[in-house]
This record gives sequence, structure tokens and C-alpha cells, in this order.
Amino acid sequence: MSASPAAATAAPSSPHVMTTYGRLPIAMSHGQGCYVWDTAGRRYLDALAGVAVNTVGHNHPVLVAGLQDQVSKLIHTSNYYHIPLQEELAKLLVERSGMENAFFCSTGLEANEAALKLARKFGHDKGISNPQIVVYEKAFHGRSIATLSATGNPKVQAGFGPLVEGFIRVPINDIEAIKAATANNPHVVAVFFEAIQGEGGVNPMQLDYLRQLRALCDERDWLMMIDEVQCGMGRTGKWFAHQWAGIKPDVMPLAKGLGSGVPVGAVVAGPKAAHIFGPGNHGSTFGGNPLAMRAGVETIRIMEQEGLLANAATVGQHLRDSLAKGLAAELASGAVKEIRGQGLMLGIELNKPCGALMQRAADAGLLLSVTADSVVRLVPPLILTVAQADELVSIVVPLIQTFLKENA
Ligand SMILES: *Cc1c(COP(=O)(O)O)cnc(C)c1O
Repeated sequence: MSASPAAATAAPSSPHVMTTYGRLPIAMSHGQGCYVWDTAGRRYLDALAGVAVNTVGHNHPVLVAGLQDQVSKLIHTSNYYHIPLQEELAKLLVERSGMENAFFCSTGLEANEAALKLARKFGHDKGISNPQIVVYEKAFHGRSIATLSATGNPKVQAGFGPLVEGFIRVPINDIEAIKAATANNPHVVAVFFEAIQGEGGVNPMQLDYLRQLRALCDERDWLMMIDEVQCGMGRTGKWFAHQWAGIKPDVMPLAKGLGSGVPVGAVVAGPKAAHIFGPGNHGSTFGGNPLAMRAGVETIRIMEQEGLLANAATVGQHLRDSLAKGLAAELASGAVKEIRGQGLMLGIELNKPCGALMQRAADAGLLLSVTADSVVRLVPPLILTVAQADELVSIVVPLIQTFLKENA
């Protein structure tokens, strides 16, 4: 596809936009598949996908046609009425998760807020007036007051105290630690975590740990609440990352990839959590509106028609193997500490902070992000081909090698 650059290069920033992000001095104009073009006409391979959002890539013909059709029919109506598309998307999510029902909102933090409210009410309903929720070190759950309190990153919390109380924090992948932290505590109502921590540096929960945790939740009557906002919706090669462990959560927040770029969030609930909320307990004006629901329905249809779960698994494995091959010397020396993740959610951890790689990658025609200071995160659209994975490797491996040599 030919680039159609705007006349001038993007202005790097505006005094009228609040500076909540440290932005690179580029602006995107349009995209096609796994590529985007900036306003100066430069092309980028997109290994960020709007932070794990553009599931089916850019300008997907089926998604675009579906959204255009929906815009011309009905963008928004109210949850005061039945919304057939909401019922359709809920059914699709329930079938793919083996859970029971779903609540819709617009973002990840909103989905997590709903999960936290579910857990608290679950406790109150059984006579626990001071419910407590187990959360994890390095977790990221959003930037509302409750979700930043659940987040395990002091930088996200700094300046926003007092935090919401009722959280107990434990390290990941340590079943004895959670048992010790909750010993003789009758107030615990839920465990809340990401199956693979995203912002925290692409840190997977071990499958054994997930199974042990499921057993512990059953034994203690706790809700298992898995934040699949980033690792869900096919990114790891299964619909939801926890499915690799053969377990089911009681509550599962979703967002990011669910609408391929249209804001959609959801909380999917299993039998233990499906009937905690009644009319008046929770709501969201935009949540579940027809445009958002159409985006979710089309995303799932496209994923199935194009076999994107299998694609994420196989292309992800190929990408991971190729990265390991290209960075073999750096892995051996310890300059690259680890390549980890699953499917098309990969992290390359360096032995030093490497935030500068984001700009350098963009200069080299590749969009990626650096998270947790030293982890290069790759979360491309799930339509990534083997050839595009090879292109990604051919850009990112030399970038990392040069960076490491310069900063040795
Ligand atoms: C991005 C993210 C969130 C927050 O989602 P928003 O849509 O930005 O509110 C919550 N949890 C996880 C795991 C995320 O990756």
C-alpha cells in the first residue's frame, strides 16, 4: 500500500494536551495489516499494536465493513433496554471461556473495578464486613484509585494516596507465600492477578502455580479473579492465557484486544460470581453499546475465520525461537537475561534499563515498547506472518546488540 503522508511532519506535542505520557515525536496517519505510516510517510512494522489492542491489525476489511454498517444503524443506546449485540458477544465469551455471564464496560480499569466490587460484595453477602483481596508484586491493574491500589508498582501509586485499603500483596509463583500471608485470616475473599503480567515485565504465572492456586481458592471459598486484559483474547494462542493451565477463574476482566481498537471492556463471571450483582449494583453508560459490541463480535468472528489462535501460537513460537537464535551470544553472556512469554506476548529482558530502545526501534521502522525499565515487549497484531516475524527479528536483534555494546 502506498503511503499518503500529510503535508508536514507531526508536531511533537501540544500545550493543549495534558502531559500524561512521554511521547515519541511521531504521529501515525494510517495503517494496513501489521504496518502503520506516520504523517511524514514513514512506514513502521507494528509490534506494539496500540499496546496489545489491534488484534486483527489495521484496516481489516471485515472489521471496517462491520463497523461502518453498525455506525449507520445504531452507535449507542441505553442499558435501560435490551441490546441484542450485547447478548451475542456475552454468549461468544461465555462459550469460549466456559463461564456463565458477562458485564460490559469500556476499558480495562473499569473491568477490574467491577471485579473488585464483585469480590467485596461476595464477601459482604457471606457476612465478611471487611473483605480483603490478595494481589501481587509487579501487578498492573489500571490507574483508577482502586486499581492503582491493587497495582504493585510504587511509581503508579506515588502522589495518589491515601490508597484504597483491603489488599494483601504477595510475590508471584510462590504458593507458600500466599498461604503464609493469608494464614488464619477469615477476611480474605479473592485472589486477583494477571495470568501473564504485562506492564510488570511479561512475567508468566507458572501453570503448576495456577493449579495450586485454583485448589486453594476452592478450599478457602475465595474468588479466583484473573485479569486477562492484556494476555487474553487469543494473544497467547488460547482464548485466555489461564487456559494453558486447564483451570477456570471465577471472574475474568477483559479489555485491550477485545474490540480491536474500539474501546470495549468486559467482566466474565463463572457460577460463583455470576449472580452477585443485581439491578442497581453496577453500571456503565457506554458499556455494552452497539458499536462496541459489534467490534467485539467481529473481532471474534475474524479470529476464528482466520485461525488467529493457531497463528499466535505458531508465529509466536517461531518469533521466540528466532529471537533466541539471534541473541544466543547475549543470552549466554547474561546481557540478555531471558526471553519469556507465550504466543505473541513476548518480553526480552536485558541486564540494564533500555527505555531508549523505543525511539531507536521507531527510527529503524519498528514499533515496540519497553516495560518495567529493562524489558522489550513485543505484542504485535495476531495476524503477524512468519515473514513479518522474521522482519521484526532482523530489526530488533541488531538494535539490542548495538545498544548492549554501547552500554557495556
Ligand atoms: C492495560 C491494562 C489494564 C488497564 O486497562 P485500561 O484500558 O488502560 O484501563 C489493566 N490490567 C492489565 C493487565 C492491563 O494490561
